[in-house]
Amino acid sequence: MRVSPTVTDFLLLAVLTAAIGVGWLLGKRSVSRTLNLWDFGASPPSQYYRGLNFLLDGSQDSAIDAFTKALEVNAETFDTHIALGNILRRRGEVERAIKVHQNLLARPSLPLAQLHLSHLELARDYISAGLLDRSERLLKDLVAESGDHQRVAQRHLLEIYEAQRDWNQAMLIATELLPRRGLLKAKSSEAEEVGQPVPILLAHYCCEKAEAAVAQLDYQAGRNYLQQALKYDAASVRATMTLGDLEIKADNPERAIKVLKSLAHQEPGFVAESVPLLKQAFYALDRREEFLAYLEDCLRRAPNTPLILAIAFELRDAAGATAAKTFLRQHLQKKPSLRGLELLMQLHSQSEVGEDEALELATINKLVAGRSSYRCGHCGFRGQQLHWHCPGCKHWGSIRDLSATGEIGYV
Ligand SMILES: [Zn+2]
Repeated sequence: MRVSPTVTDFLLLAVLTAAIGVGWLLGKRSVSRTLNLWDFGASPPSQYYRGLNFLLDGSQDSAIDAFTKALEVNAETFDTHIALGNILRRRGEVERAIKVHQNLLARPSLPLAQLHLSHLELARDYISAGLLDRSERLLKDLVAESGDHQRVAQRHLLEIYEAQRDWNQAMLIATELLPRRGLLKAKSSEAEEVGQPVPILLAHYCCEKAEAAVAQLDYQAGRNYLQQALKYDAASVRATMTLGDLEIKADNPERAIKVLKSLAHQEPGFVAESVPLLKQAFYALDRREEFLAYLEDCLRRAPNTPLILAIAFELRDAAGATAAKTFLRQHLQKKPSLRGLELLMQLHSQSEVGEDEALELATINKLVAGRSSYRCGHCGFRGQQLHWHCPGCKHWGSIRDLSATGEIGYV
């Protein structure tokens, strides 16, 4: 992920400043001949000052190249090299980051801990560059050889398999990451691990496999995967929605209704997402009145705009535009929304709409079209529809319709 240029520029300057300090120290020590770390020797200060001159001239790129060449790799400069490579990657300069990290690996007597760290950073560079096969090879080696970086490497492997949509491999790795049964509590490193909880990831992988099975019309395999998903994460609204969809496709509307109704307990703000599926199921059984009554019951328990709109649409079809308008006017007073106002105006008959009203409606249409109510709770990505996997930060299940959760109004 690219970080804003101002932040990375500041970090780069900080690392280069650190490099100046380390270089100056090395220069001093080489004079007094006391340096013998990793037996690489000290940096010649003359090469080093070229980098400093570039930096003072404001030529950061040439400064980076000069420092990379001038600053010998040893125990004292290793962290500076790693930091420099990482900042280059965060600035989006992946090729240069790869060079910096490969330069570290070219040292034959690099101690094992530093060798593994360099491997890890290079694997991260390859992911950023989209060279997933190369990264996968490095990460698999790390999993096999490095105890310290094993779990981090496995997390990166998950990133790769998710990008490749290889759910079998992703499930294998994620299962290895699950906390071991029998241990009283997870190791502290596992508790502090960056990334979403593994059971949540596994639930989404199962849902992906279920969707593929449903696409192949293999409903029983789909059901099995979704039951497995709910075992990993009982709160998975995705598993419930997918199971409801599956039962409709498998011509079991009664079963679909039962499944989809459990969303009201799992996450009341999510019920509106299931309205199109519920409608299919209730209509297939010709139980339209019960459908409307169920939605009204959900609205009483958790009032939100998408549900108000769904009920208004249903009322329009079942009882006509006047009933829908009365309902909308009532609810717009309590919960004002642009989409509600838009629907109310659309419900006016042709004879009620003059040129002025048409202009007002067109304005509201534009306002509504320009607003997105779906937002990722992790990175803030905004969109017009629900994604299970955030296109911005690749988190699973973190996008919600904020007009349904009440976090934003008037949309
Ligand atoms: Zn996100």
